Amino acid sequence: MTFATAGIHHVTAITGDQQRNLDFYAGVLGLRLVKRTVNFDDPTTYHFYFGDESGGPGSLITFFAWPDAKRGRPGAGQVAVTSFAIPPRSLGYWIERLIRYHVLYEQPRTRFDDERVIALKDPDGLLLELVAHPSAESRSPWSGGQIEPEHSIRGIHSVTLWEEGHELTSRLLIDSLGFSLMREQGSIYRFVARGDAPAKIVDVRVVPGLWSGVIGAGTVHHVAFRARDEAAQIAIRGTLAALGSNVTPQLDRQYFRSVYFREPGGVLFEIATDGPGFTLDEPLETLGLALKLPPWLEDRRFEIEALLPDVRLPLKLPGPAG
Ligand code: ZN
Repeated sequence: MTFATAGIHHVTAITGDQQRNLDFYAGVLGLRLVKRTVNFDDPTTYHFYFGDESGGPGSLITFFAWPDAKRGRPGAGQVAVTSFAIPPRSLGYWIERLIRYHVLYEQPRTRFDDERVIALKDPDGLLLELVAHPSAESRSPWSGGQIEPEHSIRGIHSVTLWEEGHELTSRLLIDSLGFSLMREQGSIYRFVARGDAPAKIVDVRVVPGLWSGVIGAGTVHHVAFRARDEAAQIAIRGTLAALGSNVTPQLDRQYFRSVYFREPGGVLFEIATDGPGFTLDEPLETLGLALKLPPWLEDRRFEIEALLPDVRLPLKLPGPAG
């Protein structure tokens, strides 16, 4: 297939508390807030994008901030776990940091021989992992954040889907998105996108009989995969439609263009273009500092700003050695 995806573009999840979310992702995890905007479908609530220095595809986790959203429940038919890449030598640093900031985590365990995995939860209960793997070394750190660059998170490593079964999802990943089945271990099927881009791993964990996931705070809303441009997106969309998926028309998300569809196991998938990216409406140096609105909401700025709660970026937190 010519128009395979290069891997994960972003993961979007739900938080019930915008300030606690900023404090955790920009503070404790040290990601860069690369865009402070609103949910385009509900402009009275925030949409935060966290990533590397420029918010490159594969580095991004984004949040719909829905105050007072009910807690969701991880289960079948969801992206249950979002995993970030860290360098292997940073494991000890991260354990100290998680202890220091009272984050719930589990002791590191080994997965697929070459990964050391720390499982943790964010303040909404979202399941995360820090995965120490040598491939993280080749990804550039953000040097302007809370964390010493040598230890900083290097973007997304992988996502884990929890599914009742794997056959139809496997077929979709392979036939429509160009993934290959790389390994199996127990109930986990590991798929890898083509090419050298980071964030190219999708694990499908088969959880027969597990309850269904319930969307809400602390759960993932959708995962987006990369299309290098609009032509590639149209081609992937055509393949999906031909194979029986109900795909949305293209939507303008300002920083990329998107189409959405539900994969056979129930997870909402998006195909997002690599561009135009987050420097579309503000310079690299000041990404995330000001509230940005798309042109079609700009004339409602006064009203929107009045309705949004005040938030602030966290102050510099001391590191484990600080
Ligand atoms: Zn998205």
